[in-house]
This record gives sequence, structure tokens and C-alpha cells, in this order.
Amino acid sequence: MKKVVKFGGSSLASAEQFRKAGDIIRSDAERRYVVPSAPGKRYDKDTKVTDMLYSCYAKAEAGEEFKEDLKSIKERYEEIIGGLKLELSLEDEFKTIEKNFRKKEGADYAASRGEYLNGIIMAAYLGYEFIDAATVIFFDEQGEFESEKTNKVLAERLSRTERAVVPGFYGAYEDGRVKTFSRGGSDITGSIVSRAVKADVYENWTDVSGFLLADPRIIDNPPGIENITYRELRELSYMGATVLHEDAIFPVRREGIPINIRNTNCPEARGTWIVESTCQKSKYVITGIAGKKGFCSVNIEKDMMNAEIGFGRKVLQAFEDYGISFEHVPSGIDTMTVFVHQDEFMDKEQKVVSAIHRLADPDTIDIESDLALIAVVGRGMKSTRGTAGRIFSALAHANVNVRMIDQGSSELNIIIGVSDDDFENAIRAIYKIFVELQL
Ligand code: ASP
Repeated sequence: MKKVVKFGGSSLASAEQFRKAGDIIRSDAERRYVVPSAPGKRYDKDTKVTDMLYSCYAKAEAGEEFKEDLKSIKERYEEIIGGLKLELSLEDEFKTIEKNFRKKEGADYAASRGEYLNGIIMAAYLGYEFIDAATVIFFDEQGEFESEKTNKVLAERLSRTERAVVPGFYGAYEDGRVKTFSRGGSDITGSIVSRAVKADVYENWTDVSGFLLADPRIIDNPPGIENITYRELRELSYMGATVLHEDAIFPVRREGIPINIRNTNCPEARGTWIVESTCQKSKYVITGIAGKKGFCSVNIEKDMMNAEIGFGRKVLQAFEDYGISFEHVPSGIDTMTVFVHQDEFMDKEQKVVSAIHRLADPDTIDIESDLALIAVVGRGMKSTRGTAGRIFSALAHANVNVRMIDQGSSELNIIIGVSDDDFENAIRAIYKIFVELQL
């Protein structure tokens, strides 16, 4: 058995946290490949090392003095090294970093040093080999992750080592310049490493015991999700779940490797298992509820729309031309509605409206703003009668006006559009019938 373990920033924020991670790794000989994040927050008001690096580099780029800022970053690492009683000096590393900051090596390079240095410490602490991610994870000139090349090189490299540490969050272009993933991207590295070694499981260690059925800021003490499929998670994650980077499921999904979300501060908890498919029934009809505010709907009407070939393509072309992605496109016989993120759309709205007129010649276009989308997701929904009925009667009783309904073709989810003001109420009403009353 081979396990890949990724530890998030709060799991490695101090020597004490490092020790917990070390104990977890050492307690299971199968935990052979380790992907660390940069040190995160030690307490609520603390600053993540990644953020310290970004602001330190911004000074370097502006030609301001940044020595003091770099010194505070160095102290964060020295505190960890000292606390772990390691014989390790990062003196030379920091000299190189300072030199490269003066050469304006780039913000990605700067940010990546958080993971790079933490990786060096982790490797020394565990006695594992250190592999710089810039030598095994690749991006093309457009900045797109090169999955196949990476997989080949990484698989070959890791086949030559029993135990290794590969820092998260970054890789490099062909010419060796460092490039990072988006924020939280160490989750993706963990998934890439898992695919390369064909791991039996990808353990993602963080500061919560997995996913919760609903947002705890809206619902008091929601239960945890024990098992969830990749597809269910996709339906929930793009709506706002924050535990795992949304791109992290793709590499492991290709190999059917399960992801187990675990809590470094509570290692005995089973956490959430994210799997390809399962016959494990969840306790409730639904697996989870998630949602997001801040959408706009663009309602386009044209008589006989249903008979016009290419109408939908022309409408969507207008959005594509202005670089706007859409979330949902429910349609009627003479209407088509496009849901977009309000903040992306706002500045370009008039341009898009005239483009739709130009390309598709509709009768009217009407824009509604401040809408929220709620996804009710569950693999069990397909085989349960009346799920939709229960949702809508609960919403009616809670005085929530439903503005849009869209049932995904997978029958895995029902998407409901409500006004932003009704968002929390709607989630509470849905939670109540399925979880509190277990209907
Ligand atoms: N350290 C990076 C961040 O703060 C990446 C990560 O932690 O996954 O976003």
C-alpha cells in the first residue's frame, strides 16, 4: 500500500503542529509521499507565510527595502526548526531568495518559497528525500498545467525513491521559471503526486474533520459527510465549499484513487471519503447543500425560439466573446436564461446585451440581479420519490419565492435560484426537512 499525505498550512504553522504531522506520518509506514503547504496561521489574527511573501515581494518589485519583511519570514521558519531541534540552517536559502527578489524573479517565485522551505524542513525532520517541485511539475508557455508530461516525469522520479517530500503549490515552465497554481493549490500537488505513484489513497490533512452537510455559518452543528462521490463534490464545491481546492479531484479521479479528508488536530476521526462510486448509503436523502450569492440572470425572449436552429449558440457566443462563463442555462419554449456571476458580468453587461442583439436578434432582454443559487446534492435522490416536491413545499412554507429551478441531467442535484435576501432562509428550510425531520 502507498499513501500520499498532504498537510495544509494550519497543520504546519508551528513546531507543535509539525510534530503532530510527523507523528501521523510515522504511525503508518504506508505514508510514503508527503506534500506540505507553507506555514499558515498559528492563531486567528496571524498572517500566512504565503501572504507575507507576496507583500515582501511587492516591496522588492516597487524598489522599496524589504529586508525586515524577509527577516520576519525567516523567523517563522527558525521558530519551527528550533522547536523541532533540527540541525538545519536556511541561511544560504535566504541569501538566494534575497538575491532573486532583487533580480525581480516574479511573484510566483516569491510565493512558492513558502512551500519550498517548509518542504526542506519536513524532509529533514522525517529523514525523507526532498524533491523540488520545479523539477517534476510542469506548465506550458500559456501557464496551463501539463498533466501528461508531469505524470511521466514524476512517476519515473518517484519510482526511484521509497519516501519523499514534494512541496505543494508550484511547478515550473519549460525554461525553469517558477509558476504556482492558484491559492490553495497544494491540494492539487497532492493529487498529482497520488496519480503519479498510483497511491491507494490520497490523505488530505487539514484543520477540520472533513466536509459538513451544510455551511456551519448558516446551520448550527451540521453533521459531517462520511462518503461523497467525485461528481457530488463537484456539484457542491463549485458553489462554495472551501475545504479542498476544486481542481484537486481531477488527477486522482483519472485513476479512481479515493481522497480522505482528515483532521491533523483529531487524527482518530474518520473524516470524509471522496470516491468514484459507492454503495454506502448516506444517512439522509441528500449528501449536502451548498450555495452562493451574487448571481445575475439574463433572460432572453424570442417568439418561436424553439424552432430557430442555432439560437442558443449565438446567445452564448456573446458571453464567450466577452470572456464570461455561465453557471446555468435553463430554458423555456420562447425563453432562455443565462446565469452569470454578477461581479464578472457587471462591467461588461451593456456590451454583452448589444452583442446578443447583434448575434441572435431576440425580442427582449431582461436582467435580474442579486440572485443566489443553491445546490441540493445527493446520489440517493434519483431513487427517492418526491424529493423535489419536499424541497419546494418546504421553501413555500418558509415564504421563499423560488425564481429558478434546474435539475441536473445526472439527477444528482437540484439547483434552486432565490433572491440573495432569501438565501439563508432557504438553506435552513431545506436542511430542516431532510436532516432535522429526516423526511
Ligand atoms: N500556501 C498557498 C496558499 O496559501 C498554497 C496552499 O496552501 O495550498 O494559498
